[in-house]
Amino acid sequence: MSQEGIRALGLMSGGLDSTLAAHLMQLQGVEVLGLHFSTGFCVADRHRLIGNSNNKDKPYRNDALHAGAQLQVPVEIIDIKEDYLPEVVLNPKHGYGSGMNPCIDCRIFMLRRAKQIMLERGYHFVFTGEVLGQRPMSQRRPPMQAIELEAGLQGLLLRPLSAKVLPPTLPEQRGWVDRSQLYDIVGRSRQVQMRLADEFGLVDYPQPAGGCCFLPDKNFARKLRDLLVHRGNSVDPDDMMLLKVGRHFRLGDEVKIIVGRHQSENDFLERFRHGRGSVWVEKFSSPLTLTSLSPLKVNLSPTNLAVGNSAAAKKSLLFRWPSNGPMPVEMEFMSSVTSTLPVLAALS
Ligand code: SF4
Repeated sequence: MSQEGIRALGLMSGGLDSTLAAHLMQLQGVEVLGLHFSTGFCVADRHRLIGNSNNKDKPYRNDALHAGAQLQVPVEIIDIKEDYLPEVVLNPKHGYGSGMNPCIDCRIFMLRRAKQIMLERGYHFVFTGEVLGQRPMSQRRPPMQAIELEAGLQGLLLRPLSAKVLPPTLPEQRGWVDRSQLYDIVGRSRQVQMRLADEFGLVDYPQPAGGCCFLPDKNFARKLRDLLVHRGNSVDPDDMMLLKVGRHFRLGDEVKIIVGRHQSENDFLERFRHGRGSVWVEKFSSPLTLTSLSPLKVNLSPTNLAVGNSAAAKKSLLFRWPSNGPMPVEMEFMSSVTSTLPVLAALS
């Protein structure tokens, strides 16, 4: 079946499901434009900026662009960071999932943007790679219906991988796409999708277990909650970037420090030194430590540790900051913090 002149927008994360959905539309002769929304919380973005210490040999790429190249589908990257943070992450109408992931509001936000583009540029409908029952928060039947409704896409949102177990959409009713060629995938298993990928010759797609977004991550959520408790909603995308990097220690209501874990994190943190305090041991490959307040004094050789006062000992101290327990480096701050502070909470 070929549908000349029918044009659809697909939300493309670069994962297997959205890639398959786009390919299913292509197979039906639908002209596809992929939209990839950059939220500022994409794990792949961090790896591109800082490196992936778990897999140093992995090439850094935008998976949505890679998927588009495989399918020969154009993909537009749309930066939504500025509005996404206050409207979705900080004030989700539908609440958070297991971490700080406002998945329902996130889908609504992206689909509203997609609808706007659909109307402006004369596309016929929008599709996604969502699979019924795959995710506990946003991919159950009631939230999927609510998302479609609140995005203003009633009848115009097609989910090709689960279409046969969902009510027929306008594209199916009007014959723009053939419902019999769509799928009835339900649940968390990816077996069917992997079989389809084989069948369609799709290779080199990201593994589903990898996770594409920081917001459901429990470590990230702990750091974000801590930031919101101490700063309220007066946070910006730079603060979000810093949450993805280094080890974070809360020293007091006003003081938090971030310690680089390796060279590339140090290099990244370096860009954020302006307007913040920092600690750096010259002539050694020490971690760069950013502080929210500038320390008046930094004591690198605390008496309660059985180490010498040599430069090498200072270096090793910095590298051996434990994730919990006493901080072997003392800092004194001015402002409302008047004494040397112990570590109150190791956040990651
Ligand atoms: S995991 Fe992240 S990107 Fe995906 S729907 Fe949830 S909040 Fe949005």
